[in-house]
Amino acid sequence: SLEQGPEGPETPIQVVLRVRPMSAAELRRGEQSAVHCSGTRTLQPHTPAARSFSCTIFTFGQTGSGKTYTLTGPPPQGEGVPVPPSLAGIMQRTFAWLLDRVQHLGTPVSLHASYLEIYNEQVLDLLSLGSPRPLPVRWNKTRGFYVEQLRVVEFGSLGALMELLQMGLSRRRSSAHTLNQASSRSHALLTLHIRRQTMPPVGPGEHPAGGKLCFVDLAGSEKVAATGSRGELMLEANSINRSLLALGHCISLLLDPRRKQSHIPFRDSKLTKLLADSLGGRGVTLMVACVSPSAQCLPETLSTLRYASRAQ
Ligand code: ADP
Ligand code: MG
Repeated sequence: SLEQGPEGPETPIQVVLRVRPMSAAELRRGEQSAVHCSGTRTLQPHTPAARSFSCTIFTFGQTGSGKTYTLTGPPPQGEGVPVPPSLAGIMQRTFAWLLDRVQHLGTPVSLHASYLEIYNEQVLDLLSLGSPRPLPVRWNKTRGFYVEQLRVVEFGSLGALMELLQMGLSRRRSSAHTLNQASSRSHALLTLHIRRQTMPPVGPGEHPAGGKLCFVDLAGSEKVAATGSRGELMLEANSINRSLLALGHCISLLLDPRRKQSHIPFRDSKLTKLLADSLGGRGVTLMVACVSPSAQCLPETLSTLRYASRAQ
């Protein structure tokens, strides 16, 4: 959750920028830094007063800008070698915070996680037991948009949740192309469902206390031309661009003060369908724009900043 006043967040969508340090390879190539930050701000966990909440966090930016690192921290160095807490990603920090809160609540809470990726407009289950097959996205009145047959796993401890995260991360699709050897060409969505088990159980039409936390690692936003894409890679780039455009469009409409009840085109992509209730509801959304400091990346950095400023 974000710092917010008693009346809730001032804007439903907040945007922050993260500039990663120069990489060893960029320094070896003698690249110059082209990004100067004039101020810094650290996100602080904040305990929401509300009994029910929903929060969505996106990272976006070009491949190699630090999206996955921001969410998940550096990869483990090996079996049993823990990542120092100061380097932990937003996910690990949130998981630890959440499980700590749940322990101190005194009422039973059920915790479930799902983890999927959207690759070429196909939804794949990163926690599926067999080899993942594309799953259909459906809609109904009570659930809104949902993924049919998506595996939703109950977890009881921080360790169990970390295992689910690692399982999903290791199954994410990546392909070698000229920008980055292991670039992520898919969007990944990890969702935590939190339900407080109340006595007596909630009646029809009542909302149980609880909420949803959604972490979204978007695919690289670089332009098709920059990656030299052909064939299948071109298809990837087109569906990535399409869903990022659809997302940007929905966000700018949601933030338009004149919108009132205007139609938000969530149906334009699988990504926006699956985020419709998070973005359109009363939840809080944080967008982390990730950029490289290198002058070589300046055109993409500017395009990431333009995308971010649309959401402000
Ligand atoms: P993306 O997911 O946007 O493609 P990654 O998160 O994989 O990018 O980051 C690219 C590389 O940069 C990785 O080797 C990662 O460890 C490193 N990196 C990214 N952000 C940081 C950071 N804030 N501090 C140190 N290294 C970082
Ligand atoms: Mg990544």
